Amino acid sequence: MAPSPATPGTQPPQAHEEAQREFALTLSGFTARDKPEYADYARCVHCGLCLNHCPTYRLWGREADSPRGRIRQMALVDQGRLELGDAFVTHIDRCLDCRACETACPSGVEYGKLVELARAQIEQKYRRPFASRVARNFVYRRLLPYPKRIAAAARWARLYQTTGLAALARGSGILRLLGLHDRERLIPKIDRDFFFGELGKTFPAQGTRRARVAFFAGCVAQVSFSELNRATIRVLQANGCDVVVPAGQVCCGALAAHAGVRDVARSLARTNIDAFRDGDFDAIVTNAAGCGSTLKEYADLFQAGESLPEPKRPPRAPVSSGEDDARQFSSRVRDVTEFLADLGLSSPFKPIPLRVTYQDSCHLLHGQRVREAPRKLIRAVPGVELVEMQHADQCCGSAGVYNVTETKTSLELLEQKMDCARETMAQAIVTANPGCMLQLRAGAVIHRTDQQVLHVIELLDRALTTTR
Ligand code: SF4
Ligand code: SF4
Repeated sequence: MAPSPATPGTQPPQAHEEAQREFALTLSGFTARDKPEYADYARCVHCGLCLNHCPTYRLWGREADSPRGRIRQMALVDQGRLELGDAFVTHIDRCLDCRACETACPSGVEYGKLVELARAQIEQKYRRPFASRVARNFVYRRLLPYPKRIAAAARWARLYQTTGLAALARGSGILRLLGLHDRERLIPKIDRDFFFGELGKTFPAQGTRRARVAFFAGCVAQVSFSELNRATIRVLQANGCDVVVPAGQVCCGALAAHAGVRDVARSLARTNIDAFRDGDFDAIVTNAAGCGSTLKEYADLFQAGESLPEPKRPPRAPVSSGEDDARQFSSRVRDVTEFLADLGLSSPFKPIPLRVTYQDSCHLLHGQRVREAPRKLIRAVPGVELVEMQHADQCCGSAGVYNVTETKTSLELLEQKMDCARETMAQAIVTANPGCMLQLRAGAVIHRTDQQVLHVIELLDRALTTTR
């Protein structure tokens, strides 16, 4: 028989609340740590205004794969009325965590927070198939927290891409046989010259100094978007910014947090908070919307007033951190487009005659509510014509590792996206997140749209009259 909660009045209110909470947990399908909280999911009033903004609901028209349906399932598991089993995991896994529902919601439901906590519960309480457990353990716990391992893995991947092995694998049909044909097309191209060598350096402003910023370089971006990182530094320098690249920084933890691996995300957050603690920076700047969104929400990883225990396997020994430190850190984080639009461009630009369309990155638009800044920067380049595509605010299907874990759905969304991009007759698709760039580049090849894919910063960098 389930224990009953202590009677009110027989103990102080605080102890009573604690007893209520413990009683609720005896029924709940969730554990106490990192769970979707009643106060958060109860804000959903079931109005359904989010449904048509949800890519998976638009694809399949099923309530269980809509934001409202997923929130309902979280509530039912929390109340012990639905098993945290295969069906729940499937519907939560199929969510892109694109947060379009959050923008649409009039009740202020923080859906991104809820789905990440639901995934944290799945991580704690559900036994995934063996292959999935091995892959997740390798990627989230053994690889991403360690820059040297990322570099080593990237060297192998580059060998595969540059020695003809990739062509051989494609040509022989082995990838198709293993069911890896589609996934292989979405693997990032590995750079020859990694960005890790720039860590610890300072790049001085050109002309009058207007700001001093710290640059957040990312993890996979340091082996596959090194040139984008260098372009970001050039554009910031050309606009009067000293750019410091702190040496101790690691992966932001976004992929781990999105997957529910929150102990790793917390450990990475602590390391980054310490790495960016010193230095009189006006802002911590990132060119990756996915990273920026997580960096701005570090405090959500920690409980109020929490003093954190040492992690089992820290990537670096952290000094200290907690919710307050996280808030302080996050208050300085800016997406590079947001930062430059606020600062105002001061660098002279040469004309670039180009018709472009802009694809909103979900974690910039829905995660950070930044819509106008990238458009403002694009319009600032002389000769560039910006044409809006339909449904620019809908996910391209990249969504972190979604294109690898849910490849079929991801490619369906990509096809819709490329149809919209093609309709604009733009020569280039511009976006603000490396993950989206990879997906859109694959889309341009698969659907033969003959369109370049650029980051907003790459467009600005091309237009600079100085440097290089
Ligand atoms: S719009 Fe908000 S309140 Fe309405 S169903 Fe969706 S999540 Fe719930
Ligand atoms: S995050 Fe995106 S995919 Fe998930 S429920 Fe919200 S709108 Fe749908």
